[in-house]
Amino acid sequence: MKINPNYTTKEAALALYNEPLMQLIYKAATVHREYHNPLEVQMSTLISIKTGGCPEDCSYCPQSMKYHTDLKVQALMPVKEVVDLATTAKANGSSRVCMGAAWRNVRDNRDFDKVVEMVQEINGMGMEVCATLGMLDAKQAERLKNAGLYAYNHNLDSSQEFYKDIISTRQYQERIDTIANARNAGISVCSGGIIGMGETAEDRIGMLMTYVHMEQPPESIPINALVAVEGTPLEDQTPVPVWEMVRMVATSRIMFPESIIRLSAGRTEMSQEGQALCFMAGASSIFAGDKLLTTPNPEFNEDASLFNILGLTPKAPFQDGEQPETKVDEKVEAAKQKRAEQEARIAASKPKSADFEPRKVSVQ
Ligand code: SF4
Repeated sequence: MKINPNYTTKEAALALYNEPLMQLIYKAATVHREYHNPLEVQMSTLISIKTGGCPEDCSYCPQSMKYHTDLKVQALMPVKEVVDLATTAKANGSSRVCMGAAWRNVRDNRDFDKVVEMVQEINGMGMEVCATLGMLDAKQAERLKNAGLYAYNHNLDSSQEFYKDIISTRQYQERIDTIANARNAGISVCSGGIIGMGETAEDRIGMLMTYVHMEQPPESIPINALVAVEGTPLEDQTPVPVWEMVRMVATSRIMFPESIIRLSAGRTEMSQEGQALCFMAGASSIFAGDKLLTTPNPEFNEDASLFNILGLTPKAPFQDGEQPETKVDEKVEAAKQKRAEQEARIAASKPKSADFEPRKVSVQ
């Protein structure tokens, strides 16, 4: 992935961000056309495979157990349920599924075995599979890669300076380390941030500068607008103006010409015209489906209608990289074997229909 050599200092990047908006959009649209098909937008579906009860204290997140929100905690979903949701997402035009679990970090337990199996199954359906499961060590990253994981999401959220104002339970460096573990395992990286949390323009650019200084910037950079949820510390935050979203999308597009800029949370608050400006400014990916983890998102049919108006088409999977191979995972195979044995035992203990004689009732 390339970085734009003209914006490798914070001063230059900030000057770009502050350019007259129409000029900034024009520059971003020009870069976008040079590196991407501007009429294609990747549709990605986010499935919350484990919801709530997270021990972290991210101030924006209703899934943290430190805050009192209406959120219903949900244990890890069964593999079949996730595969069924992925099947529907594919039928609705999504080429990528992102599975989100509200964990601080991945643990080597049966839940992780199930996630590995989900990755195998969805990769087998010919979709790009992404996961966002919290912190990840090198071995776990390798296991996910072998299962067929295409991308790993781990956001930096904001600048290093502002980060400590929104999260105290994990360090910025730990996030960078997780990104490096995914990268070193050969997994494509998805990492971005949230605007509207009370940060300054310098903080927004500070986050982008962290990506500039990485050996390789992320292949996908999601830009989220804060969805202020009642019960979280950021509940009273005023919604970020659409112009700032457009500015952030355009600046990211110009600084990282080859990456995909993803228009993420906060789309329900944006008009169709606002979203169209973001596409013009270089956004080429959206999350589809009525929920974004726990916050609202436009319905599939609303997006279909917007695509129709703008002449956009959903992007096919694996246009930017090869489909990973799914390799055999011993733990998943052992779990499948155990399940098959259990099912066989249950089937054997049920009366066979041939043995069943209905009671004779005499009718008078
Ligand atoms: S953003 Fe992720 S890590 Fe932070 S509280 Fe929410 S689920 Fe936990």
